[in-house]
Amino acid sequence: MLSKSDLEKIKLVITPGTKVVISTHKSPDGDAIGSSCALAMYLEKKGCICSIVVPDALADFLYFIPYSNKIIVFDKMEARAKEVLSDSDVVFSLDYNDLKRAGSFGDLIADSKSLKVLIDHHEEPNYEGDIYFNDPTCCSTAQLVFDFIDELNDIELVDIPIAEAIYFGLITDTGSFRFPSVNERTHEIIAHFLKMGLAHFKVHEAIFDHNSMNRLQLNGFAVSERLELLENGRVAFIWLKEEDLHRFSAEKGDTEGLVNKALSISGVEMAAFFRSAKEMVKISFRSKGSIFVNELARDHFNGGGHKYAAGGSSEETINETIAKFKKVVQKYV
Ligand code: 5GP
Ligand code: MN
Repeated sequence: MLSKSDLEKIKLVITPGTKVVISTHKSPDGDAIGSSCALAMYLEKKGCICSIVVPDALADFLYFIPYSNKIIVFDKMEARAKEVLSDSDVVFSLDYNDLKRAGSFGDLIADSKSLKVLIDHHEEPNYEGDIYFNDPTCCSTAQLVFDFIDELNDIELVDIPIAEAIYFGLITDTGSFRFPSVNERTHEIIAHFLKMGLAHFKVHEAIFDHNSMNRLQLNGFAVSERLELLENGRVAFIWLKEEDLHRFSAEKGDTEGLVNKALSISGVEMAAFFRSAKEMVKISFRSKGSIFVNELARDHFNGGGHKYAAGGSSEETINETIAKFKKVVQKYV
């Protein structure tokens, strides 16, 4: 909920001609892009001039989201990103709560004089902003964007493209509405979208039916050759080396969801996925039990996230990283 004074502040800036930059985290996911595009489309209806800046490239399937074709990728269009930021009146930070998660663009935001607004659902924010619309109990930033529009009394401005973008974020951050963070409100929002005529099945297709042969075969390989159990079957992990990724010509996003395959084994309470990438190993953690993976990620793998979905990285080799994981995980099980 926005306080009365924050609501007044926001209303004063969301006016025709205001220049807005919306920023989200590295390796943006469906929630990051869905919530950013939904907010941009809404703010443009209010007359604002919006730009979305993401630190690095989007996985292909995210381009289904309306407005995503206008996104500025910092890695590729640094000059343009800097220009819109220096021109901006307001910066929104969506789906992250620490400017480090926005890479070099985050450093520029830190130095910017624009009004800073955080809309996010991660725990323990480390963010110096002016207005905070954050709730770690909320399932997704997409849901918070809908609530934000609602607080501004503008639900009638939500059209089908905005609904599609929000719905995309909801599906991807809730594992298709199954995580504990899903609540009555989530389904009320969806009911509202369906009354509006949202073709929900098209969004599901865009998210789940975009496999290439390579992707499917990489996933098959990972499950048959690179899946291991630990701790009497309570922990599972999958790992892929760079050469495995090359073998199947892996593209960005091709390993998304693999960690959930490990978590789907009966009896498994926590799963990890390790992937070599250039000079580092990127790690995803998921849990459905009493293990809070954000703590594991934060304490041992330079990361963070949510209790049940977190990530991190390591500068050691993949073998060393896995050896370390095997050792530290014992403390959490
Ligand atoms: P994924 O495994 O899908 O990459 O990330 C799951 C969640 O973990 C993300 O939504 C994000 O909250 C968090 N996360 C992933 N990687 C990192 C990281 O390197 N640092 C931090 N602080 N959080 C991360
Ligand atoms: Mn999210």
